[in-house]
Amino acid sequence: MYCRECGQKLSLRFCENEGLIPYCGKCEAYMFPQFSIAVSMVVTNRAQDKILLAKHVEDDDFILFAGYIKKGENAEKTIPREIKEELGLDVVKAKYMSSRYHQKKEVLMLNFIVIVEDKAIKLKEDEVSEARWCTPEEALALIRKGTTAEYFLTNAVRELKKKI
Ligand SMILES: [Zn+2]
Repeated sequence: MYCRECGQKLSLRFCENEGLIPYCGKCEAYMFPQFSIAVSMVVTNRAQDKILLAKHVEDDDFILFAGYIKKGENAEKTIPREIKEELGLDVVKAKYMSSRYHQKKEVLMLNFIVIVEDKAIKLKEDEVSEARWCTPEEALALIRKGTTAEYFLTNAVRELKKKI
C-alpha cells in the first residue's frame, strides 16, 4: 500500500476509535481507504405495478438503473439527474431502501425505489441498449441472479406491494 499523495510506502498505525489505519510518515497523515458511492434505482410507474429494467450496451443481462454520486452532490440530486440523463423522465418520488458495499468495485450502493412520470422514455442509447417495463414477477425472473441488484429488487417488490 502506497501513499496516494506522495507515493511513499504506508505503514499501519493505530488511530483512536478507528483501529489500524494506513499511515504515511512523510505526509504525517492517515490515509483512509477511499471508495465511491452510487445510487441503485428500482424504477417504477405511478401505479407502482410495473418495474423498469435496463440492459446495458455490451451486456446481455437485465440490471437496475444505477449511477455514481458526483463529488459535492447528494443522492437526492443524483437520482433525478440520472433518470433525466438515461430515460429523459422526471422523478415523481424516491424512497430510500437500504445499502450494500460492493467489494469488487469498491462502491457503496444506496438503493432507492424511484417513481417516474408516465411518459414515453427517451433512452440514452450509448449507455442503455434497452429499457423494459415488467411486472414485479417478470422483473424478478429477468434480473441477474446472485447479484446486489437481485437483493435490492427483492426488497423493493415486497415494499411496492404496500405502495411507497
Ligand atoms: Zn504521503
